[in-house]
Amino acid sequence: MTCPLCDTLGGRLVYQGRAFRVIHADEAGFPAFYRVVWQSHVAEFSELAPAERVRCMEAVMAVELALRNTLAPRKINLAALGNMVAHLHWHVIARFEQDSHFPSPVWAAAQRARDAALEARVAAALPAAEAAMIEALQMLENPS
Ligand SMILES: [Zn+2]
Repeated sequence: MTCPLCDTLGGRLVYQGRAFRVIHADEAGFPAFYRVVWQSHVAEFSELAPAERVRCMEAVMAVELALRNTLAPRKINLAALGNMVAHLHWHVIARFEQDSHFPSPVWAAAQRARDAALEARVAAALPAAEAAMIEALQMLENPS
């Protein structure tokens, strides 16, 4: 059986850790859409050992904090669905009041047209967001 998150990175690689990776997902309308992908193939969060659960959520938090500190989003959405791809991954999505779906989930129906100016502003801040993310993730994995 093939698994897209075992066979491919699943997006643009931002950070490769020992047990997880962070990718930027190319999702139209949501420029600040990241995924923390557990490296080994497990379907459910509860399959991780206790220390792995902590590490996974620390990584999610590092991504969340980097997005909050650099983009000042209205809300961060965290989600682990895995109905389409049953390989553990957390979605970390910065949401803005003007985005096409707010306040609905990104997977729901659009509420309004996309805002090109918002998307451009957010996209322009992604390098800073990712630099902050990488620094936090490196500190997480290599505490000095
Ligand atoms: Zn897999």
